[in-house]
Amino acid sequence: MSFFQFTPAFANPQGSPIRELFPYLSRPGMVSLAGGYPSPSLFDQEGLAAAAAQAMTTGATALQYGATEGSPALREQLAAQCQARGIRCSAADMLVTTGSQQGFDLLLRVLIQPGDAVCVETPAYPATIAALRQAGAQILSTPVDGDGLDVEALAAMLAALPVAERPKLLYTVPNFSNPCGTLLVQARRERLVQLALEYGFVVVEDDPYGELAFTDARPAPVYAAAQQQVGEGENPVVYLSSLSKTVAPGLRVGWMVADPAVLRRCTVAKQTNDLCTSPLAQAVAASYLQSGRYPQAVAKACAEYQRRMLALTQGLKARLGDLVQFVQPAGGMFVWMTFDARIDPQKLFDAAVAANVLFVPGKAFYADNAQLHSMRLSFAAPDVAQIEQAVDRLTEAFHKAS
Ligand code: PMP
Repeated sequence: MSFFQFTPAFANPQGSPIRELFPYLSRPGMVSLAGGYPSPSLFDQEGLAAAAAQAMTTGATALQYGATEGSPALREQLAAQCQARGIRCSAADMLVTTGSQQGFDLLLRVLIQPGDAVCVETPAYPATIAALRQAGAQILSTPVDGDGLDVEALAAMLAALPVAERPKLLYTVPNFSNPCGTLLVQARRERLVQLALEYGFVVVEDDPYGELAFTDARPAPVYAAAQQQVGEGENPVVYLSSLSKTVAPGLRVGWMVADPAVLRRCTVAKQTNDLCTSPLAQAVAASYLQSGRYPQAVAKACAEYQRRMLALTQGLKARLGDLVQFVQPAGGMFVWMTFDARIDPQKLFDAAVAANVLFVPGKAFYADNAQLHSMRLSFAAPDVAQIEQAVDRLTEAFHKAS
C-alpha cells in the first residue's frame, strides 16, 4: 500500500489521451494531424517581440504581482474583442484567466459538487471530460450533428429526466468545435438559451476558435443571444475565450465573461489557484492587441487554415470516397471523420503509424469511449505539402485496414 492516500479522483488517474500520442511524434518523418496546435509559422513573432519590448517599458508593473481580475489595459482590449463579436460588455465584465482551460476549472470549483450532473456535447474536447471526472461530476451526453449541438435531443433528454437528475451545467463549443469543426446555427443558439432558462442550467460557451472563420457567416455568441432574452437579468451563459489559437498558446492568456456573481466567485477561486495570470504575459498581450496587428494576423491565419483544410478534405474525398464521412468545417482547426464499421479502428491506427501519419482516435472524445469508428484530424500545424503527404499515407492505411 502506498504511503500516499490520494483523493478518489486521483486514485487511478488517466492521462490525456492526446498527450499519450506524443511518443509517436518523435518518429522520423511523422506527419501529425493529431495535435490541436496552431501553426508556428503563423505566430506574429515580429509583432510579439515588439509587444514584449514595449511591455518591459511599463516600469515594474509587468514584473510585479497583479490584480486577480487581470490588468486594466488587457481587460479593455478583451472587452473590445467581445463587443466586436456581439456581446454587450465592458472591461469590468472580464476575468483574465491562465488559458481558457483555467476558466473551466474555476467554474467547476464554484458550481459543481461530486455527484452533480453535467451535460457535454458529444463527442467533446477530452480535457473537459477529464476535468469533469476530476470534479466527480455525473457526465450526461448530448449528440451533435452537422449544425452543432442537437438541441432537440437535449430538450427530449431534459424532459425525461427526474428533477433531481437534471444537469447543473452544459458544456459546448459552438464555433468550429473541437473535435467536430461544426458551427452551431443561430436558431439552436436561441433554443439552447430557452432550455437553460426553463431547466435552470448554466451554459458554458467555450469559444477559442470563433475568430478562425473561413466565411463571414458566424452568428453572435450564445452569450449575446442570452442577453437578448434576459435583458438586464441574470445571464445563464458563461463565455470563455482565449488568445491561444489566434495569437500564441505560450502566452497562456484566456478570459471569462459572466454574470457578476459568477465572476466574483471565480475570482476568489483564482486567488488560491495562481493569484493572477502572469502580468508579463498580460502586458505582452495587451500591448500586442493595442498595436493593431491582430486583425491582419488573424486574417492571414484564416486564409492559410482554409487552404490547409481544403487540401485535407478534398484530398480525402477524392482518394477515399464513401469509405469516410465528414462535414467540411467553415473555420477552426479540425475535421471529424467517421468511417465504415467494418474497418477495425486499432488496425487502422497501427497502419497509419506504420505509414508515418498520426490522428487522434475518436474514442478519446467520448466519456465512455463509445464511438470507435471515428477520428479527429487537425489541419492547422502541417503545411499543404505535408497534408498532401498525410492524405497519401492515410489512404494507404485505410486500404491496409479494410
Ligand atoms: N477549449 C477547447 C475547446 C480547446 O480546444 C482548447 C485547447 N486545445 C482549450 C479550451 C484550452 O485553451 P487554452 O490554451 O486557452 O487554455
